[in-house]
Amino acid sequence: MAFPRLNLHIHSKYSDGGNSIKQIVRESIEYGLNYIAITDHFTNSWKASVIPTLNSKEKLTNYILEIKQCQNYLKRKNINLRLFKGIEIDISSSESYILNHINPYKFDIILFEYLESPEGIAFIKNILKSWKKKNHPNKNFPILGLAHFDPSFFIYSYFDVLIPFLKEYNIYFEFNSSYSQYYARKFQDFFLKLKESSILVAIGCDSHNLLDLMNIEEPFNKIRDYELEDNLGKLINLLESRED
Ligand SMILES: [Zn+2]
Repeated sequence: MAFPRLNLHIHSKYSDGGNSIKQIVRESIEYGLNYIAITDHFTNSWKASVIPTLNSKEKLTNYILEIKQCQNYLKRKNINLRLFKGIEIDISSSESYILNHINPYKFDIILFEYLESPEGIAFIKNILKSWKKKNHPNKNFPILGLAHFDPSFFIYSYFDVLIPFLKEYNIYFEFNSSYSQYYARKFQDFFLKLKESSILVAIGCDSHNLLDLMNIEEPFNKIRDYELEDNLGKLINLLESRED
């Protein structure tokens, strides 16, 4: 597989990132990235008092609109960069806060952060069940991923719960360059399971500034080490098949 230039985890000024969406897009073109997602924070846990988040319907609307404008620009100029509307949802938020604010069909990619227990799996399943009840005939359900997932929470006892969950809902594991400890060699059994079960994988840098946008080589090399290129290839096919 040719080296795919993707970074599906980027923060803008809409939460705790340092740059506007336009600046991120401009720099991504400069770097020659092929796929990026803006994934600002959504939470009403303790974190909401520490960092800026997408904390109102109005802010969410502006956020989506601004990404949409950049998508239109890229299309109009025929630039070889796909931009995706993403969001990073803290699963220690309350279920009602998430359901009241988030219409999943407005997003291309939804990341869940802080999945650390079987209870967390049950929480995400409930959210997905509620979301899938609202069917939008002309819109695709977003691609789902786990942000900076730490395998150590599941590795000794709950693999048998985790892997079928990822499989059933087509949820990807993110090789996040800001958390390289989560794809360390000591977790190789976990990555073997991902390979055997054809679980999707992706690359995200958790970028908060422009210099972090291109930290994609190390995660890609790890994906190759673990022979997960096909898993990444499937994810890229999903990205390709999405309409703006
Ligand atoms: Zn993040």
